[in-house]
Amino acid sequence: MALNISQEPIQLHFLIIPLGSPGHYIPTIDLAKLLAQHGVRVTIVTTPVNALRFGSILDQAIQSGLPISFLEFQLPYMKFGIPEGCESIDDLPDTGLAHGLFLAHSSLQQEVEEYIEKLDHRPNCILSGTYLLWTDETAKKFRIPRIVFDGMNCFTQMCNHVLHVSKVYESVNGSESFLLPGLPDRIELTRAQLSFIFNSGSTDVKGFSEKLRISESEAFGMVINSFEELEQEYADAYQKVRKGKAWCIGPLSLRQKDASEKVQRGNRSSIDKNECIMWLDSQENESVIYVCLGSISRIEPVQLIELALALESSKKPFIWVVRAGHKTDKIEKWIDEEGFEERTKDRALLIRGWAPQLLVLSHPAIGGFLTHCGWNSALEGVSAGVPMVTWPQFSEQFYNEKLLVQVLRIGVSVGVQEVVHWGEEEKSGVVVKSEVLRKAIETVMEGGKESEDRRKRAKQLGKMANEAIEDGGSSHRNITRLIQDIWNLSSTKTSS
Ligand code: UDP
Repeated sequence: MALNISQEPIQLHFLIIPLGSPGHYIPTIDLAKLLAQHGVRVTIVTTPVNALRFGSILDQAIQSGLPISFLEFQLPYMKFGIPEGCESIDDLPDTGLAHGLFLAHSSLQQEVEEYIEKLDHRPNCILSGTYLLWTDETAKKFRIPRIVFDGMNCFTQMCNHVLHVSKVYESVNGSESFLLPGLPDRIELTRAQLSFIFNSGSTDVKGFSEKLRISESEAFGMVINSFEELEQEYADAYQKVRKGKAWCIGPLSLRQKDASEKVQRGNRSSIDKNECIMWLDSQENESVIYVCLGSISRIEPVQLIELALALESSKKPFIWVVRAGHKTDKIEKWIDEEGFEERTKDRALLIRGWAPQLLVLSHPAIGGFLTHCGWNSALEGVSAGVPMVTWPQFSEQFYNEKLLVQVLRIGVSVGVQEVVHWGEEEKSGVVVKSEVLRKAIETVMEGGKESEDRRKRAKQLGKMANEAIEDGGSSHRNITRLIQDIWNLSSTKTSS
């Protein structure tokens, strides 16, 4: 999109500032590409290791001439006690270092502001992660509109909205279920299932939550990685809350079309692309359950053993992404010593480390996805048209489970009752027994009318997701509208 003021065509320029966690970085990079494909010049603020890790997926796009560049700053590791090279939350050896990493990223504010000051033309928009409150200050200082990207869907936004407005959770105890008032569906949750702004465990986040809420409400708008048809009533309701300044532009993952892009999304894959495809090709269509619990979950080894036993007893082919943060060695030891890999080798593929999730999910052999309900993963499952086993852990994942299981009816819950706070996993030990996990897996993977209907609905949604991003589809219209809204703002500013 080009402005044509004073006879000079000016290209819109977005300064994009992602949060240092895979669940935020990955879709933000996809979004940068999408904006550039619509003619917007984008500059991504990053740090050296993150630029390599998350940014290399854009190499091809940049070489083909898309107007994307990286603005790299060195992270002051030492000052904040962060091990060198740890720039994303999942790199940290210890969850206790997360606050230091957050502060280290926030300390880039001064350098970013110096960069803006030196520019001949201010960026037309700052698009940044919701938790990066300093970007709100910077945007206000330079009078640049800020768009927030928190990587969630409209359903979650509406849950948070009605909780904030009604304060209904304040008068209930932890395990008592209550109705979220004013939503299109009858959604019930317990306080122990709410996201960390309402249920923060041992961390005191009251002041931070309040600032977050103010900065979100003062932002120009919110970009949403979802598509309207998936959650139309919630998209409409949220549009009203944001006075028309919410744009559903997803699923962003569908922007990565080539296998080579899919395989390098988010990190270097721990498995060779061809080996992975060969294994999947050797399985029957819709026979494999893919199990991945996100990029930052640090589930206790005792709990992972229950999962392994469930996968074994379900007798289905499976791919299991084995990861337990700093406790990965313990689960690896169990796998070796108990002969688990040997016993299941005819029908199992274990991926140790980073899985090429998009590549796996888009293969016809995948018949189900056991997910922790992080929104990226859930939406990637929707886009692939697969039914899901839902096992939420923390954050807004219980809301996503409600959306998948109750509203969209494409998920089967393992029945977890409360959040396992990130960094406090040891306190919980085993939350779900292998028998319960096995039953949920079988319910999704085995035939029967209910299961087939669920699969049909999932496929239909997958089709709708693909249509939404096509030219003329709802997400395509919304990205155009977003750019137009910034264009309108910029031209008003220039002419006043
Ligand atoms: N992911 C991946 N391989 C892995 C683990 C995660 O590609 O081994 C990607 C996944 O496709 C998704 C993101 O990392 O895009 C995780 O985001 P999500 O919101 O699902 O969960 P989080 O990790 O933030 O809890």
